[in-house]
Amino acid sequence: KGPVCECNTCYGGPDCSQFFPDCSANANGGDPLFLEPFWMQHAASSALLVAGWHRMSYSYDDQSTISKELERHIRKLHDIVGNAATEGRYVVFGAGSTQLLSAAVYALSPDNSSSPARVVASIPFYPVYEMQTDFFQSVDFHFQGDTSFWKNNSDTDTEIIEFVTSPNNPDGQLNTAVLHGPNVKEIYDHAYYWPHFTAIPAPADGDVMIFTLSKLTGHAGSRFGWAIIKDKDIYQRMLTYLTLNTLGVSKDSQLRALKLLKVVLATGGREIFEFGHETMRKRWEKLNKVISTSKRFSLQKITPKYCTYFQQIRGASPAYGWLKCENQEDKHCYAVLQADANITGRQGSIFFAEDRYVRLSLIRSQDDFDLLLDKLNGVVAGEEGAR
Ligand code: PMP
Repeated sequence: KGPVCECNTCYGGPDCSQFFPDCSANANGGDPLFLEPFWMQHAASSALLVAGWHRMSYSYDDQSTISKELERHIRKLHDIVGNAATEGRYVVFGAGSTQLLSAAVYALSPDNSSSPARVVASIPFYPVYEMQTDFFQSVDFHFQGDTSFWKNNSDTDTEIIEFVTSPNNPDGQLNTAVLHGPNVKEIYDHAYYWPHFTAIPAPADGDVMIFTLSKLTGHAGSRFGWAIIKDKDIYQRMLTYLTLNTLGVSKDSQLRALKLLKVVLATGGREIFEFGHETMRKRWEKLNKVISTSKRFSLQKITPKYCTYFQQIRGASPAYGWLKCENQEDKHCYAVLQADANITGRQGSIFFAEDRYVRLSLIRSQDDFDLLLDKLNGVVAGEEGAR
């Protein structure tokens, strides 16, 4: 008699228990629902009740749009996890890290210069960097493709803004900056630099570092991210952008983020990071086990590293599988997976790589992952039978 349940696309019937074996496995989007069971276990302590009169104002008492209490918790979390240097640095909040990516490009670009900044990233890269930069059609910056193209560039008059994604989406590698020089500035996208997805070898200390609640607690829908900035001028330019664009982040999102971070911090992060890492490591192991028996498909290699947070070497646990179709004729790996295994991944070309690659999301719900594994098992077993 309760509300009509919304079933996963592969299930139906009144209580979602009827399995549709022909349904397609969704390994496409980066919705981080792998953390949903953690929050179900902490339903009461993470719940928020906000009275109608609360936080109606545009700003906090200090006239800022950034909650000092939330900022303090964020700094504490970085100190405990050891994944970013925060001392003496500035913090701004954004509507997800998505808003901060374009705020950072704006802040690092010259004003009214005759030579606009070149915005670059290393293939394979998260496509939003290009899409946003192109979309805003600014006279101050243009997207100029892959970093490798600019490695031996002798024009030091034009500013270069390099996106460095570490760990990288889609392949999980701990990327470092490729370009160097007085005219190069980096935007470090550390969306996945949390113990769920990677060992933490040392605190990141880039000049502009971007983080997001989406991949830390899994609350992508709250649209909350933050940037840690070394330079005061860049900080002020980012603030200008954020003020003119949205006049700060929703106070409701900030309240929710604070509540969630309090739960995370209650155990010094132990509980959520143990859960997150264990879940992702097991998924990666299972995926590797299937793919290791295949001649047709292969996966990226991620070397286990010492994690300063867990104080031990931890097995790899990336957010995505970067699957390659090895057969000469399987040029469109996305279509191969779709046709032969009923799996929907994301085409390599979306990340500016070859379509021989497909990204498989491993951060979705357990149902989605189990179905993906089941379909992969099927296609790889078929391959063995045919051999
Ligand atoms: N950077 C990277 C590398 C991502 O993968 C994502 C989300 N998939 C984002 C930024 C944006 O995340 P959000 O806006 O939810 O913070």
